[in-house]
Amino acid sequence: MAEKNTSPAIGIDLGTTYSCVGVWQNNRVEIIPNDQGNRTTPSYVAFKETERLIGDAAKNEATRNPTNTVFAIKRLIGRSYSNECVQSDKKHWPFKVIKGNGDRPNIIVDYQGKEKQFAAEEISAMILTKMKEVAEEFLGCTVKDAVVTVPAYFNDAQRQATKDAGLIAGLNVMRIMDESTAAAVAYGFDTNDVNSPVKKNVLIFDLGGGTFDVSLLSISNSVIEVKATAGDTHLGGEDFDNRMVNHLVEEFTRKQRKDINNNPRALRRLKTACEQAKRILSTTTQTAVSLDCLYEGTDFYSTITRARFEELNMDLFNKSIEIVARCHEDAGIDKDNIDVVVLVGGSTRIPIVQQLLKNYFCGKKLCKSIHPDEAVAYGAAVHAANLSGQGTEEIKSLVLIDVAPLSLGINLKGDITLVIIPRNTPVPTHKSVEVITSSDFQYEVPIAIYEGERVRSKDNNLLGWFSLSGIHPAPRGETKMNVTFKIDSDGILHVSAEEPVSGTKKQITLINRKGKLSKMEIDRMVKEAAKYRLEDEQFKKKVLAKNSLEIYAYSLRKLVKDDKVVSKASGGYAKYLAEAVDKMIEWLKHDVPKDASEYDTKKKDLQEMCSTLSKLSQSDPIFGENDCGSNLLEAVYRNSSPGH
Ligand code: AMP
Repeated sequence: MAEKNTSPAIGIDLGTTYSCVGVWQNNRVEIIPNDQGNRTTPSYVAFKETERLIGDAAKNEATRNPTNTVFAIKRLIGRSYSNECVQSDKKHWPFKVIKGNGDRPNIIVDYQGKEKQFAAEEISAMILTKMKEVAEEFLGCTVKDAVVTVPAYFNDAQRQATKDAGLIAGLNVMRIMDESTAAAVAYGFDTNDVNSPVKKNVLIFDLGGGTFDVSLLSISNSVIEVKATAGDTHLGGEDFDNRMVNHLVEEFTRKQRKDINNNPRALRRLKTACEQAKRILSTTTQTAVSLDCLYEGTDFYSTITRARFEELNMDLFNKSIEIVARCHEDAGIDKDNIDVVVLVGGSTRIPIVQQLLKNYFCGKKLCKSIHPDEAVAYGAAVHAANLSGQGTEEIKSLVLIDVAPLSLGINLKGDITLVIIPRNTPVPTHKSVEVITSSDFQYEVPIAIYEGERVRSKDNNLLGWFSLSGIHPAPRGETKMNVTFKIDSDGILHVSAEEPVSGTKKQITLINRKGKLSKMEIDRMVKEAAKYRLEDEQFKKKVLAKNSLEIYAYSLRKLVKDDKVVSKASGGYAKYLAEAVDKMIEWLKHDVPKDASEYDTKKKDLQEMCSTLSKLSQSDPIFGENDCGSNLLEAVYRNSSPGH
């Protein structure tokens, strides 16, 4: 228990565009501000010649260094390189994505003068590490345990890959939680509906930067039960931005007869301007996009109206409403029986989205009372406290019941998927089926696992496969096997198969999922993540030492030239010291030493000279050792985005 008190569990909303972290403290959830004072942190990682930046500093790099600034990694995690979405996203990204082992998408960047390849799990781990550090700074202790959220509609591969990212970040991921369930927890606690004996049907409409989730839940008596979930893991603000970018690129080409498509920097600047314009259009009906010297010295100026923006994206907005219909129909709950519609995610600020939703629910007032950017982290923090036995009685007694978002099954002869766990089955769960051999004297049966709602396996998503070999050979149809599907509380699938007659229980070859990181790869990435953290630490130390020396040298230069400070007796030495300081300042401008110790040694030399001057002047120490306080330097370091 003592251990838990010193290291509380945190809740992390790992978003496509922004991430957010919360913790249960002093009987409430604290959403933790980052080192810039912001309550959400951009999910960006930038690689430079000298250092790696994560969060706000990385997002600021996006225009300057577009090919080495990685973002929207949530759109890659758990997906294969050949996936349609990956192929279409790739075209919009300035950073390079290539086909890695097992059809895995790998990101290529230049880091410290070398080309480096990273898996999506590693980049996500860097963002998780940042969020962990934000929490540690706030709490003043090491954080180990976390609940990490994913879109409810994330499939098995995406969940498993997110869990692996947590592992690489050095976190014990206590639970992978659905974002919409987390938002429902936030709503339940905010309104106190969670304690009410009257059951309420709550629809969570969560439209964020990259993903869209709808969940229908019932809330009462400390139980939050998901009835159905639906969504699209590739629908959100990024898509709306991209539509506007495409529209303006066309306009630029038409007006200027120049194609900016192969200029990542220009595209990035345009994308940033489009995101800004989109936000403005949520409150005004028209705005301008103005970029000086966008491409080959040509300026770009255009206006865009809210109506045009809506038209560009109307198919996507309508799609979100179709998904809402599917969700409550799956739950068998009529739209009239939905008590509250809760808006979550930054993109729900778009007026047409609210209007379409309101129309669908025949004018029902939408609930906007929970913070759209923080609700998910809030719910995750409550769940983290609940799982680690912290918090009030209210928190401890909370029960969450999730569902499997997609049907899961195995391939039968004839390319048919036999569903073992239908979609929207409450989890955790396990189900078994009996299957028989389809050929005479078979001694091996291949078992291929699929997810999806289509009848033919080839139309569903192959999760993995294994072979059950050494089974009792007999005429076809006589040998029977049990195949068991188990979904754990993270929504992750475990499959086993056994054939009882052959004596030994043949079983449990773990799913050989395509593209999944192997244990060896994860171990390597854990080691590399620690190495990068150490490098970041060393870089920070170096910057602090350099700043310390610089501040000391400049202050000293001012002092040794001040007659009131330097007595006649020490005048000659003061001149000598002034020259040494000038030399040092020159050296600081040009020299690039390897580590912090070189700066420290040089500062010590100056300090010694300074103390000699004090003695000669027979005065009190002219300049104390601690005049350059580390707090001040810390602030200088943070605000200056170091590295120059
Ligand atoms: P989230 O993933 O929930 O943090 O949502 C981030 C997305 O919300 C980004 O695509 C933002 O551009 C978008 N967003 C934030 N504020 C607004 C706004 N006022 N109007 C339109 N979109 C917004």
